Amino acid sequence: MARRIATEQANEFKNKMIFPENLQHLIREGEVLAPFTWLQLGGTARFFAEPTSAEEFCGLVSAASKADLPIRILGDGSNLLIRSSGFDGLVIHPCSAALSRIEFRGSSLVAGAGAKLNHVITAAIGSGLAGLEHLAGIPGTIGGALVGNASVTNDDIGNRVTRVVIIDQQGQLEERRAEDLQFAFCRSNLDGSIVLEVELQLEPSDPIQLTRRMQAGWIVKRKSQPFSGTRNALAFAEPDGCSLVDLFELAGVKGAVEGEAALSTQFPGYIVVSGTATPEQVLALVGRVKQSVEVRSGIQLQSPLKVW
Ligand SMILES: Cc1cc2nc3c(=O)[nH]c(=O)nc-3n(C[C@H](O)[C@H](O)[C@H](O)COP(=O)(O)OP(=O)(O)OC[C@H]3O[C@@H](n4cnc5c(N)ncnc54)[C@H](O)[C@@H]3O)c2cc1C
Repeated sequence: MARRIATEQANEFKNKMIFPENLQHLIREGEVLAPFTWLQLGGTARFFAEPTSAEEFCGLVSAASKADLPIRILGDGSNLLIRSSGFDGLVIHPCSAALSRIEFRGSSLVAGAGAKLNHVITAAIGSGLAGLEHLAGIPGTIGGALVGNASVTNDDIGNRVTRVVIIDQQGQLEERRAEDLQFAFCRSNLDGSIVLEVELQLEPSDPIQLTRRMQAGWIVKRKSQPFSGTRNALAFAEPDGCSLVDLFELAGVKGAVEGEAALSTQFPGYIVVSGTATPEQVLALVGRVKQSVEVRSGIQLQSPLKVW
């Protein structure tokens, strides 16, 4: 007992050494990460913080880097599978108003990384700016959308990006222009960077027409994905020229189940979990499906899901 208290006190002292006095109030230790993800799975973060300004965000990054503490950025958790062991480092969740604001400069839209993609889309439409409406219905933040190059039928967000502000390991701001950025299917060269702010180039258009287009797209999207409220993730991307349904059938994995994680039969590519499902069951299911598909068809399925 005495030893445990001594260890806890030593840890607390060590933690106080990592983060400066003015950031201490932001640090939560042992935060359970499951509620922050769509799958509602995952262990705890050693440290967790929700900065309220860019200065705090930079300060946290700088302090963690100096202490060699690994850092992860959490968006809306819609593309995330966190292992039961959690994350032994600092998880930063930039969800405050200051880090989610949306502004317009002419026909450019500037958004903080924590802004929800769907808020960005409706704000753009409300200001009569076209170019994002086809992405309506994709969950997540603009930061997450950029890092994973969110797309609908090969029309991706990367096409619209003109500038990104990132925070480097020293906690300094760095600007990346369109020519420094690379976007490909479900990925970008921003993976591993810390995105603070994004600028998108849009085109003036009629808000009423845009609203109609967004609503039509949204209806189609809603029909192709699990109902909100279910615990799910888009685990497989459809390869060019192949249907996931056919590949799953051929590989004999249609509706495959691992514990309480199942491959959706209604919504191709999605995994749905329930009850006491574990992250490891989801990982096992993803691995089994990939392997079976490759053995039967020679196709290597891509999983956009990020695993921590
Ligand atoms: C029902 C459903 C439907 C979906 N439909 C689509 C779809 O049609 N098209 C599509 O492309 N995707 C789709 N997805 C996947 C997912 O919504 C997108 O990948 C989304 O853009 C992820 O954003 P997020 O904020 O939730 O990121 P998170 O899941 O929180 O994080 C994903 C990755 O991005 C990183 N990240 C997040 N924010 C930042 C930041 N500020 N700086 C640096 N790294 C960051 C995280 O560290 C993590 O590695 C769908 C998912 C679900 C559950």
